Amino acid sequence: MALQGKVALVTGAASGIGEETARKLAADGAAVVIADLNLANAQKVADSIVAAGGKAIAVSMDVTSEDAVNAGIEETVAKLGGIDVLVSNAGIQIVAPIEEYAYADWKKMLAIHLDGAFLTTKAAIKHMYASGKGGSIIYMGSVHSHEASKLKSAYVTAKHGLLGLARVVAKEGGPRGVRANVVCPGFVRTPLVEKQIPEQAKALGISEEEVVKNVMLKETVDGEFTTVADVANTVAFLAGFESNALTGQSVVVSHGWFMQ
Ligand code: NAD
Repeated sequence: MALQGKVALVTGAASGIGEETARKLAADGAAVVIADLNLANAQKVADSIVAAGGKAIAVSMDVTSEDAVNAGIEETVAKLGGIDVLVSNAGIQIVAPIEEYAYADWKKMLAIHLDGAFLTTKAAIKHMYASGKGGSIIYMGSVHSHEASKLKSAYVTAKHGLLGLARVVAKEGGPRGVRANVVCPGFVRTPLVEKQIPEQAKALGISEEEVVKNVMLKETVDGEFTTVADVANTVAFLAGFESNALTGQSVVVSHGWFMQ
């Protein structure tokens, strides 16, 4: 129960990596906030954590809306007494070759991945400073924080951007005990990835099996997908790591796809 007494807010926690992360943080003793655009699913996740003996609430949050983010953080502090861990995880994927990439889609991608990370950090860090206890901010990056792939101009740009944000937050927050790190998963079979397999097959003119084998898992050491549990365990490790020795870093969880 490394996170006993801590409060952790996870964005995009109604599905996939965020959901598993919230479950793991709750299992490690944290009171968790399931923050998501999809309130109905967020409530289901919170209810099942509570049914399993954990502490959880659901909040409706569109991470691209400053008002919604501020309201969700304020609700967290009012109901749970503070915020010690922020996991900025909400994300989507839109793939297209750059000459066909709609400007509206580019802006939407940067808004969810980068504006969302900025707004949640800005709102949460004030409380981490005010408590005198500091905290841990974890951004959900990707191997695409370090590598590029075809069709993913906005995603790769945004995920690289998170490294810069984390390093600034590490420098600003360090003297007040706030750590900031980026977790960088390889491909994980969540709804976000399931949707991409047929899209990439169509865009690249290859079969879905070839997308999995030759695009997604080609560079791994064993041809295996990373799992939601692999990512959740890494987030929990960073959330529970109490010193500034580990800040401003990215931790790649990808079956060796990218080695740093
Ligand atoms: P997912 O589709 O399973 O879940 C994403 C969640 O984010 C959903 O519950 C969705 O409702 C929520 N969301 C979307 N837009 C939102 C918004 N504006 N405000 C609040 N919530 C919003 O996806 P996932 O695969 O679990 O992805 C989670 C994160 O992990 C993303 O940042 C993604 O880029 C990153 N990631 C995923 C993989 C992978 O292979 N699945 C790999 C590396 C990084």
